[in-house]
Amino acid sequence: MSKLSNAGKTHQVDSRLNPDSTQINQLFHISTFYHFFPLTDLDAVKVDLCKIAEKHKTLGLVIIGPEGLNSTVAADSAEALMQFKKELQDHFQIQIENFKDSFSDAPPFRRFSTKIRDEIVTAGLPGRSPEPGINHHLSPEEWDHVLKNEKDFVLIDTRNWYEYKIGTFKGAINPNIEKFTEFPAFFESQHIPKEKKILIFCTGGIRCEKGILELQDKGYDNVFQLNGGILKYMAEKPRQEFEGECFVFDNRVAVNADLQPSQVYKLCPHCGQPAHIKIECKRCDEPALLCESCLELEWKKDTCSKNCSYQYSINPHKKGKHQVQHYEAARLKK
Ligand SMILES: [Zn+2]
Ligand SMILES: [Zn+2]
Repeated sequence: MSKLSNAGKTHQVDSRLNPDSTQINQLFHISTFYHFFPLTDLDAVKVDLCKIAEKHKTLGLVIIGPEGLNSTVAADSAEALMQFKKELQDHFQIQIENFKDSFSDAPPFRRFSTKIRDEIVTAGLPGRSPEPGINHHLSPEEWDHVLKNEKDFVLIDTRNWYEYKIGTFKGAINPNIEKFTEFPAFFESQHIPKEKKILIFCTGGIRCEKGILELQDKGYDNVFQLNGGILKYMAEKPRQEFEGECFVFDNRVAVNADLQPSQVYKLCPHCGQPAHIKIECKRCDEPALLCESCLELEWKKDTCSKNCSYQYSINPHKKGKHQVQHYEAARLKK
């Protein structure tokens, strides 16, 4: 057992000494990172990554592309996560600038997996990746200073509408997009003067790496991105200019100001977006959280799952037992 202090809270770290233990206060150490560098033979990269993950008992997802790696991983001890990071960097001979670390009591992933993609962040710009080094990046400190002291700038959230909705920077514009590939069209529609100072941000910084290239191609030279994204800002400047929670791409759904898993949001059982409205299922009577959009749809409304919604639609007067989903069942068995 070792102790780890995070944002004023002390957690007991159980390094899985007893795998049969039903203790739930085990702490998972999570890290989000990316690195742009040329990769060839992506299948071999995949094999190497799986070996490294297996060796250090790491769970998570790595997106592999010819332009680099983009990932969130988790391990059940700080030591294991550190060894994973070290071996990954040694293996590929890279120096990753920003590891955005956080914690969770529940495993944020069920296994380790990789995906091979043309782009490590989908921007519709395959083959166009940032040069090594700094391209108009502001540190959380510099970013905070601009937001607090300057007036003449445009602040744009490059994330999706539902990410914006659960938390963003004070005064940020919501592009109201479904996916990042829609960002350029949104930007065009704003007719922002070329010389205007523009600040863009995203979760961990990777979308902005591509976003900034796109804006620079259009002749905007006064664009800046938040280095390390919201996650790094929240770690260095908690409860300052960012309001609400930050959406993350794993079981935690979002993290709060202490970078702890959200206590407010779960994934909507119908559509997979963040959900926070409590309902009681009209078929099985189990409580569930739904998102606002699904709550408006007659056939999803007040049901806890796709199954209950379907069963209710064919037989509205009949009650039935709650159907435990596969992953839930696996977790309960542990
Ligand atoms: Zn929904
Ligand atoms: Zn139900």
